[in-house]
Amino acid sequence: MSDYSALLARVEAPEGSGREIHDAATGEVIGRAPEHTAADLDAAIAAAKKAQPAWNALGHEKRSALLLEIADRIDAVAEPIAQLLSREQGKPLNGPNARFELGACSSWLRATAATVLEPEVVVDDGDVRAELIYKPVGVVAAIGPWNWPLMIGIWQIAPSLRMGNTVVVKPSEFTPLSVLVLVSVMNEVLPAGVLSVVSGGREVGARLASHPDIDKVMFTGSTATGRAIIEASAGNLARLTLELGGNDAGIVLPGADPAAIAGDLFWGAFINTGQTCAALKRLYVHDSIYEEVVQALKGVAESTPMGNGLDENNVLGPVQNRKQFDIVSRLVEDAKARGGRIVTGGSPATELGELFYPITLVADLNDGDPLVDEEQFGPALPIIRYSDVDSAIASANHLDAALGASVWGPDADENRRVALQLEAGTVWINKHGVVHPMMPFGGVKGSGYGLEFGVEGLKSVAVPQIINT
Ligand code: NAD
Repeated sequence: MSDYSALLARVEAPEGSGREIHDAATGEVIGRAPEHTAADLDAAIAAAKKAQPAWNALGHEKRSALLLEIADRIDAVAEPIAQLLSREQGKPLNGPNARFELGACSSWLRATAATVLEPEVVVDDGDVRAELIYKPVGVVAAIGPWNWPLMIGIWQIAPSLRMGNTVVVKPSEFTPLSVLVLVSVMNEVLPAGVLSVVSGGREVGARLASHPDIDKVMFTGSTATGRAIIEASAGNLARLTLELGGNDAGIVLPGADPAAIAGDLFWGAFINTGQTCAALKRLYVHDSIYEEVVQALKGVAESTPMGNGLDENNVLGPVQNRKQFDIVSRLVEDAKARGGRIVTGGSPATELGELFYPITLVADLNDGDPLVDEEQFGPALPIIRYSDVDSAIASANHLDAALGASVWGPDADENRRVALQLEAGTVWINKHGVVHPMMPFGGVKGSGYGLEFGVEGLKSVAVPQIINT
């Protein structure tokens, strides 16, 4: 096992201070995150503001070259950071988890370095020539969640730096150590002040988002916090990209092959043990194949190993924190009390550790049941029976959450017809949750606004200007 202790020592709070961070699987203390003060935060923002003009003046080519250099540095220490991430977040090393997350960081950096936002001539009629160009916004606040702390951090940081902004990062108080380490590795390459990190509780996030010198907030987290950030932006008029909560529906159409889709359905729902914004969180299955889909999913669930993430055999891990564990547990208990049928799982897996909850499939639930209507963000999936495709579409659209959705069926035209009626930022066909650095990603309705990735993602961290000649 490669050792992350030298990397951690660079960022840890001095002995006797800071916030203790625990191994999500064992509860053991793995390190102490600094608790940055308001003065630390002000200093980081002042440094970012000071560094921004020179960073912008470097130009796209040099900034892109530095992003590529950072990607190489991350690759070089990916294994020790993955070990730390696995302990802090809980996700196993193997499967679409910790090593995968580190790989996504460097590949997103490389893709962002290669993406070009060209100026656009919007009028050229012989009389007027107007060109639309994009400039950096200034200082970007990057505020992130605990589920994919590194990958989501890079999604916010890479385009911001690429466009000539400087960045102050606020990691989740549940997973600060791996983000602190990642930023420290990035800072081996970047000029001083361009990228800094402030660690601490929710109040640090609130102070950062409302600071008068913040020009843009890239936020990924809950809808409730997103609303607080919108209110804060009344003060500093910061531009916002809000990637908020999801409750993605999947619709399995008549004629789908249960055995063939079960694996992709399972990982669509349970990637990162269900703690993923755009995971499949409500599954609507046509009456004609309902029981076959339920049984096929049960087969996958019961043959997929869960346990301590450092064990190479495991691909499912614990719930990251007690608060989330209690949400999952409450929703499953409520579903049982309402007559939901537990197909597998259904009560805590205490034999594995305090925060382990097994993959739980609950059949025979309905719209309106809390496990269906609320975001569980963990290893429990409600499976709802339907008989009329239009009613399944109405069910999928009945919530305010609208990040992603998916359609599973054999007929391309029918899949597309259904997809076009779904209210969601992304609709996947015969898959769920797949993201790509060139495909714009973002929610609608209660899942937020603004786009990340690709050229649209670069526009989100820029301000437009018209040059009218
Ligand atoms: P959260 O909103 O509780 O916390 C996110 C971050 O916001 C943390 O760093 C926190 O300290 C900070 N924060 C808290 N209060 C703040 C305030 N008033 N102002 C500014 N920052 C503040 O979310 P979480 O529990 O860490 O993450 C889980 C949620 O995130 C789920 O709802 C999930 O669906 C969502 N999520 C969405 C996406 C997406 O791309 N749409 C991706 C991942 C997670």
